[in-house]
Amino acid sequence: MIFEGLSEKLQNAFDKLKGKGKLSEDDVKAALREVKLALLEADVNYKVVKGFISKIEERAVGHEVLDSLTPAQQVIKIVNEELTDLMGGTQSKISFASNPPTVIMMAGLQGAGKTTTVGKLAKQLKNQGKNPLLVAGDIYRPAAIKQLQVLGDRLDQPVFSMGDKQSPVDIAKAAINNAESNGHDVVIIDTAGRLHIDEELMDELKQIKSEVIPHEILLVVDAMTGQDAVNVAEEFDDALGVDGVVLTKLDGDARGGAALSISSVTGKPIKFVGTGEKLDNLEPFHPDRMSSRILGMGDVLSLIEKAEEQMDEERAKELEQKLREKKFTLEDFLDQLEQVRNMGPLDEILGMIPGAGKQLKNLNMDEKQLDYIEAIINSMTIEERRNPEIINGSRRRRIAAGSGTSVQQVNRLLKQFKQTKKMMDQLGDAQKGMAGKLKGK
Ligand code: GDP
Repeated sequence: MIFEGLSEKLQNAFDKLKGKGKLSEDDVKAALREVKLALLEADVNYKVVKGFISKIEERAVGHEVLDSLTPAQQVIKIVNEELTDLMGGTQSKISFASNPPTVIMMAGLQGAGKTTTVGKLAKQLKNQGKNPLLVAGDIYRPAAIKQLQVLGDRLDQPVFSMGDKQSPVDIAKAAINNAESNGHDVVIIDTAGRLHIDEELMDELKQIKSEVIPHEILLVVDAMTGQDAVNVAEEFDDALGVDGVVLTKLDGDARGGAALSISSVTGKPIKFVGTGEKLDNLEPFHPDRMSSRILGMGDVLSLIEKAEEQMDEERAKELEQKLREKKFTLEDFLDQLEQVRNMGPLDEILGMIPGAGKQLKNLNMDEKQLDYIEAIINSMTIEERRNPEIINGSRRRRIAAGSGTSVQQVNRLLKQFKQTKKMMDQLGDAQKGMAGKLKGK
């Protein structure tokens, strides 16, 4: 799970505070020491950590917090606000040109995920009703052009390529002409990367920048490289000047150091995060939601948005109704499994449900288990799926035999379903709460 280690340590530190009724200055300082350690272990830039902790300390040891009725909650609230601030404060979107086409130029080292991100971004823009042209400007990496063409085919969006004999500047210019004559309102230019930053690479990128004048330069960096990603971002920004960062491979980054330091070190916002290899795995970056996820408070808004992306409106309404009425059955569970599988890695999805982080460990669900679950539910009668309470010992044996699993596995599924239903009910409550708040406004 994203930020799993950090998230757990921070929550432990705050659990200790919550256990105490009244807090002293020393209690808060002790908790903040733990927070500091957790951040350093997460590979967050040292200077960033120092500044962050001192800001919180300044706000948290005053009387207003310590004398309040819920001091621990106040401290968590401050940490949440500062964490949000650290990651850029508010969401930063792509700025579109008033006079299309909007030209987006991607930059980054080789292997950071540029080409993949071009495809993901194109998909997202297409879903928003735009008509992007993908431009194969990485003429050095042998497979890059083909890779982009495969992505374009999958998206059913054209890819502009002139092979690998023309200069990237000429390709970019020709691509923009092509976009203008073919009604493309966005042009996304893939560019070459190198294994390390060198002058030649920067010169080429600078040349594209000065000749094409892109509206948006997005720097793609690999979150798994931690502080290296931060250094790379700093160097690119100094040399080229970038408008925003796409942080890829966050799904493989249990620590989170890059995500937490990059915008504070470079002053440039993270605009998107990559959370997997699939074309759907690109999320707009919301500092507040990410902070809330890190602090174990879930991210219901992103979860609902993801669900909405996957489902048609009719099904979304049906599910919402079921969540509200707490009528979630094994049939829905099976139906949702397929959809959840399309939404991204399972642990990440469940991590968005408030309070689910810890329960998740007990669930011990992984992708392979999903196959068993499908087989088991498929071996149940409709009645059993709607009323799992009737599944007694002999039914369990029949289901296990029918699905090629064991009675223990059937038992486990029924237990998991019960827990999931509990989480779904919580989600329903959260939704109701939100709807109430919206109405109250
Ligand atoms: P480029 O050299 O910068 O164009 O990098 P690629 O787009 O070819 O990506 C390099 C590798 O990273 C590929 O295997 C991608 O599938 C993988 N990748 C890119 N983004 C992500 C991500 O967000 N998560 C994961 N897990 N893999 C990613």
